[in-house]
Order: sequence, then C-alpha cells, then structure tokens
Amino acid sequence: MTLKPVLLSFISALLPRFGIWLLFLGLLTTTACREAKLNEAKKTIPTVNGPIPIEQLGFALTHEHIMSNFGKDKGETSQYNEEALFKQVVPYLRKLKSLGVNSIFDCTTAYFGRRVDLLQRISDSTGIQLITNTGFYGAANDRYIPPFAFESDAMEISKIWIEEFRKGIDGTDIRPGFIKLAFDEGIPSPIDIKLFTAGLLTHLSTGLTLAVHTGDNPEAVNQQLQLLEEYKVSSSAWIWVHANKVSDIDILLKTASKGAWISLDGVNTSNIDTFLQIIDQFKSRNLLHRILLSHDGNGFPRGGPIREFEAVPKELIPAMRIHGFTEREIDQIMIENPKNAFRIVVRKED
Ligand SMILES: [Zn+2]
Repeated sequence: MTLKPVLLSFISALLPRFGIWLLFLGLLTTTACREAKLNEAKKTIPTVNGPIPIEQLGFALTHEHIMSNFGKDKGETSQYNEEALFKQVVPYLRKLKSLGVNSIFDCTTAYFGRRVDLLQRISDSTGIQLITNTGFYGAANDRYIPPFAFESDAMEISKIWIEEFRKGIDGTDIRPGFIKLAFDEGIPSPIDIKLFTAGLLTHLSTGLTLAVHTGDNPEAVNQQLQLLEEYKVSSSAWIWVHANKVSDIDILLKTASKGAWISLDGVNTSNIDTFLQIIDQFKSRNLLHRILLSHDGNGFPRGGPIREFEAVPKELIPAMRIHGFTEREIDQIMIENPKNAFRIVVRKED
C-alpha cells in the first residue's frame, strides 16, 4: 500500500464533515456580520449631514418646521426665496443653539416644502443637527398627497420611502430619520389608512419610527393602534403627534401606558401653565419616559415671520424647575426620550 491512496481516502473521508463545518462557520460569520451591522445601525441616526451616533443627538426638539410652504398651491411648494430664508432662519437657529438646543426633527414633508439641500446648508451654517423625514402628509383634505398615491397600493408607496432611506432623497445622499404621516379629522379615509399601512411596511423594512399627525381624533388613534397590532409592530414605533390637542388626558395616559409616544408639541409663551399641568399628570403616573415636547414652530412659514420654537428651553423648562422637576427628569424628556423614540430599530411584536 502506497502512501498516496491512503492520504487521498483520508481526505475524501474528512471532506464532507469538514465541508459542513466550513458551511456552518460561514453561516455563523454572515449572521454575526448582519447582527453587527444591525447593532451599528441602531446606534446611529441619519441627519442631513450624514449619520451621527444617536448618543450625540442631545437636547432635541422633535416636531418643528425649519421652513414650509404649507397653504401654497401644489406644485409651488418646493420654491423658496433662499436669500430671505437664510437671513431669517440662520440667526434664529443660532439663537436656539445658544439656548442649548442640539437637534431638531424637521416635520415638513415632501409636497409641502421639504428641501433637504437647503436644510443641509442651514445645518452647516448653524451647527444644529437637523433630521428630515420620508412619508406623505395626508391631512389638509389630502391636498398635499401626490396623485399617484391614490392609484398605488401601500406596498408600492412604501417602496418609495424605503428607497429614500436606503439611497437618499431627491438625488442627494441625505437620508430620512423618521416617517412623517398625517390623518385628517373625522373617520379615517381609505387614503389615510393606506398611507399608514405603507408607513408600517416601511418601518418593518427600515426600523424608522412613525410620527403621525393625529391631534384630537380618537377614532384615528384606535385605527392606527389596531393596524400596528395587525402588522405586529409595537406601539413604541408610533408617535401620536399633536396629542396636546386632546382635552381628555386619561386617553393620553392610557395610550402612553401601552408604550406609544405622546407628542406634546404645541408649547408657546401663552400656554406654559397648561403644559406644566399635563406633564405633571404624566409624572404622577410614572410616564415621563413616554412624552416628547416641542412647539410645532416654523422658521419660514410661506416666507412669513417666524412661528417661534424657543419657549421650551426659555420658559417651560425654567418653570418645570420651579415646579420641582429634577434635572434628571428634564433630561429624560429632552434627551433620553427623543433618542429612544427615534432609535432606528424594527420594533416587531411576536
Ligand atoms: Zn407640524
């Protein structure tokens, strides 16, 4: 017996087992790589100047409009007097920065004035981190929904939004950090339901959170919660935008205790006491970790004067301190909650 055939038979006997181990190792590495990528994605959020570690979000206003053309005719909403815009918005954002604001979530959607190229230049000039959105605005009697959305199904619409997340918006490499949607008043219409469904599909594919203009519309809230359940998406992937318009705080507390985010986004100089009382109720129910505070301000509404967004750092927070709120509680609302609400992770419920 020569050595060669012995060696060959030895190798051929080992190879199948070895092959299986190699395959197993390969699978392990791929899964580990995917996990690592997913974990990495969870740790960052896209701003108009590229992704930043989510820990760097800092003090954040979660519902403002740097500018918008809400109210203008369709087709005219992406044009701005850029010189006037910069002259008005840049000093204002610098002032906000000096008040301690690090990040702003811009809620102006496509078709009523989203211009990510301008947002990027504004962020460059001010040092404020801006996060833009994908999605369509279904309120205002469907005025700003693009016509093709009525003909398309939810899956087709979600593909557009997912594409924006993967590749960028309007030919740029600027990616959205959340999904912005809106419901009209009254019984939810088929198009509002379809857009919300497209939002759920987008969430399941990207992990982006849904911020949905809903206001005082309990029926729309119920339908959204039902759809979240149907698609097995946790209610922590959903923000009830303009929830402060609801007079029955019990509904807000009940919805918050289910894990949803309650956006109290109408703060201004004249309602500091009202907001203090609402926040106090969340505190007494140990639900401070479910609320977001903002103004729904606008730096350049159709070219008009600023609708201010400074009352939270300037007036509400000092009032909270006087009222006995601790620094930890304030940081919870202004730093921790935005981070947790907008963290990019698929929130699937089994
Ligand atoms: Zn708004």
